[in-house]
Amino acid sequence: MKKKIMALIMAGVIAASLAACGGNSGAASTDSAAEEKTEEAAEEEAATEEAAAEEPTAEAGAVSEYLADGVLTVGTNPEFPPFEYMGDDGNPDGFDIALINAIGEKLGVDVVVESYNFNSLVESIGSKIDVSIAGMTVTEERKQAVDFSDSYYEAIQSVIVKKDSAIASADDLKGKSLGCQLGTTGDFIIQDIEGAENHQYDRGVDAVNDLLNDKVEAVIIDRNPAAVFQAQYPDDLKIISGEDFGFETELYAIAMPKGDTALADAINGALAELKADGTFDKLVEEYINE
Ligand code: GLN
Repeated sequence: MKKKIMALIMAGVIAASLAACGGNSGAASTDSAAEEKTEEAAEEEAATEEAAAEEPTAEAGAVSEYLADGVLTVGTNPEFPPFEYMGDDGNPDGFDIALINAIGEKLGVDVVVESYNFNSLVESIGSKIDVSIAGMTVTEERKQAVDFSDSYYEAIQSVIVKKDSAIASADDLKGKSLGCQLGTTGDFIIQDIEGAENHQYDRGVDAVNDLLNDKVEAVIIDRNPAAVFQAQYPDDLKIISGEDFGFETELYAIAMPKGDTALADAINGALAELKADGTFDKLVEEYINE
């Protein structure tokens, strides 16, 4: 009885494999070539996977301690429109806030946004806050203290001056009294300008107010907030692009605790997904281009 069942099963197996062969015969050459290729590709894939598994950084499935509690605490400085500003409801709003909320959604964690002075954000990462999103430029100096995500925006410093100002080139900034937001790349630029008197403010808007009051002769600040501030005083202020002064372009990124590759992978993965699915561009339109 047993033998008979085995025989029946074997017959079935043989029939099935014959049928499979027959099915292939019509386009035998192309199909088998394709099959060989797929096999090759599969082998290659397996090889790369193995190689990746050997890399010490690729701890597949590792979850960052900063995400494991289900809450991502994010520091920002809501004085930097259109990237972050105080919303009408008293909570930070803006492009960066929408972006980090979308990232949190992708990662399945709640995002809690807290407000800090820009100058204290970097030192608070990994202790008071998990990460920071604040139109923050990737710099070598900051990289000593934090890691940066893939960058999500390219910017440059602008120079805001009174409409009747004669300032037009890098040489014109020498020896002038200049305003900036403390601890920003605009601040670092002023520190390198020969003879310049550096007036550092906690908020960029305060520097702009002192420009209006003739306490400083120019304000150096990122292009997008410069446009927002100037637009509030179109009759009094004008903007000159940093390109005219030889300033370098800057890249904004999310600042994260140093060495947490699981967190970096998660955030970069979410950012890539948001770019691929159109969410990122929608936010650019909504907050920056409108
Ligand atoms: N991008 C500038 C910097 O990183 C300014 C950022 C800001 O003021 N929020 O220093």
